[in-house]
Amino acid sequence: MVDIAKRRFFTRKKIDTSQVKLPWVNNLQQFTDLCTRCGKCEEACETRIIQKGDGGYPSVDFTIDECTFCYKCAEICPEPIFNSADTEPWSAKAGISDTCLANNNVECRSCGDSCETMAITFKLRAGGVALPQLELADCNGCGACVSTCPTSSISVSNV
Ligand code: SF4
Ligand code: SF4
Ligand code: SF4
Repeated sequence: MVDIAKRRFFTRKKIDTSQVKLPWVNNLQQFTDLCTRCGKCEEACETRIIQKGDGGYPSVDFTIDECTFCYKCAEICPEPIFNSADTEPWSAKAGISDTCLANNNVECRSCGDSCETMAITFKLRAGGVALPQLELADCNGCGACVSTCPTSSISVSNV
């Protein structure tokens, strides 16, 4: 028997709202209160990016693959956790760190090649290789750029 009150007490302290958990799950407090950690969304995810995260709660891992926004995780979930499919899945956006190869003058355009929305483009500059430019307004937080980056320079978080 799960002691809900006890679980809430322990989970409430840990919530980091910048962390991307699942699409169409905006209220992380409600998520940890209602999620039973049954694992159904993990099994349903077509790109297998839903893994057990902190405390056994499901969480997307973009180092594995991208979110295709297929909504299968939401459809299979027996609890009232996910928002409806006609709403924005999340406010997540990509961010590129200074360890980027191009930033260190090594030619690389992998992230741009993987970005379907063309949020990442490359700007030529004099005396160096082209640098990635991220247009946040065009980024849907799919995470496709994360696993393709050879230097793990891209992360996706809620903004
Ligand atoms: S929307 Fe689809 S691809 Fe994205 S996390 Fe859910 S099941 Fe996986
Ligand atoms: S998260 Fe997706 S949309 Fe955003 S920059 Fe990366 S590949 Fe493009
Ligand atoms: S894939 Fe990574 S290393 Fe390559 S340009 Fe993009 S951020 Fe830089």
